[in-house]
Amino acid sequence: MKAGRRGTDPSSTTRAAWIVIAVLAAFGFQEAPGQNGSRPVDGPASRASAHAEDIAARYGGVAQRIITTAILRNEGWEKLQELCDGIGHRLSGSPALERAVAWSVETMKKSGLENVRAEKVMVPCWVRGEELVELVEPRSARLPALALGGSVGTGPDALVAPVVAVRSFDELDQLGEAGVKGKIVVFNVPYDGYGKTVQFRSNGPSRAAKHGAVGALVRSAGPSGLRTPHTGALRYADDAPKIPAAAISSEDAAMLGRLAGKGEPVKVSMKLGCESRPDAESANVVGELLGATNPDEIVLVGGHLDSWDVGQGAQDDGGGVVTSLEAVAHLKRLGLRPRRTIRVVFFTNEENGLRGAHAYRERHLAELGKHVLAIETDGGLEKPIGFGFQEKPARDADPTPRYRAAAEKLRGVVGLLASIGADSLSAGGGGADIDPMRKDGVFVASIETVGTRYFEWHHTEADTIDKIDPTSFNLHVAALAVVLYVVADLPERL
Ligand SMILES: [Zn+2]
Repeated sequence: MKAGRRGTDPSSTTRAAWIVIAVLAAFGFQEAPGQNGSRPVDGPASRASAHAEDIAARYGGVAQRIITTAILRNEGWEKLQELCDGIGHRLSGSPALERAVAWSVETMKKSGLENVRAEKVMVPCWVRGEELVELVEPRSARLPALALGGSVGTGPDALVAPVVAVRSFDELDQLGEAGVKGKIVVFNVPYDGYGKTVQFRSNGPSRAAKHGAVGALVRSAGPSGLRTPHTGALRYADDAPKIPAAAISSEDAAMLGRLAGKGEPVKVSMKLGCESRPDAESANVVGELLGATNPDEIVLVGGHLDSWDVGQGAQDDGGGVVTSLEAVAHLKRLGLRPRRTIRVVFFTNEENGLRGAHAYRERHLAELGKHVLAIETDGGLEKPIGFGFQEKPARDADPTPRYRAAAEKLRGVVGLLASIGADSLSAGGGGADIDPMRKDGVFVASIETVGTRYFEWHHTEADTIDKIDPTSFNLHVAALAVVLYVVADLPERL
């Protein structure tokens, strides 16, 4: 997952409307002689720096062909259905994830990718078990809840304790042990963007445990939904007892806050059957479209194959892996083979461990210098608006001339997506699976969407394929295919 943007409602774009756009684009397109898919001969001009006009002149025709043909396809959507409806959610250590690994290998091969393989990775295995969270005082009511990933269970007996509700870590610390010990802490922090709010899910349980809390309930990190809890990983601190923790809906967190605020006794019962088991075998799945002239140089694209154990892991991140694959399958279908290799990677265990991300970096350390660009798609499949490019090697670093020059070229490449409104290049971007290789100097980027509703579905039972618009899916395929093809084919690497 990653933070998204706000914008127009993608559901207003109908398939028919996009077909019209595709047809208009096809007719409106002025093809330069010899440039529709054929590679111009290298001459002195092509060795000049690749400014936007150069890129448009060289690749405008082929980009439009990739786009107009991608918009009308159905193969990618069928693959997404196989993954979401046929296999379903895919938590690390589950049989479903391993079925998905086998399916991915098979599907990459069927799609014509080369060098398809599963690269073994050991992943953590956390199992949810049965869970029941109830209000027991001042009245009895079931509260829809999802244990946080990695949480310890309560054991066979329910944990029943009085509730104290806080709206910030400051408030928690002010209450201190006197106000918190022996209680269940409810973090009733209203959603203020994922990046800001997620810290209460990640760190809240241990912060509460340091003051003697016996359990934690966290208001879901998402906008108000339909009384929907959002799961996600917590991070236990080493210097605090591990207490059971679950996410509850924003509605119920607010209610507990109101009840506790009246000063009358409020009591909750938590029974969580979750537990951690020994690591299990999984794999990153890799497939390639080998480069025509520089096959050792790699443009990477991918997302994560694992998901939380709710919904279907459709927006997060089944759509990301399938559009990554389909973008390359589409180039293959069109007979387009760029100079460099395009490598598709389905990372395992993004959600609760990042073992796949680290294993990829370690296994491919020797060739990271040959990674020209890594693109992650893990922000859902709402309408794409462009790409994000990380202009510096680390959070605290300054952008260097090398990064600025790459951004300038990438801006020219992304400009080829103007006909589908996906031509913005923003600073930032990347993703959790490719972040480890960023510090090795690999340029990282991500596809960006309008981000209107993603966090309503994120990590919930509602993350199902019906939340994805098939037209938007194809626009992602088109946008990725153009950027991958051109970056992999530019005369000079980024
Ligand atoms: Zn994700």
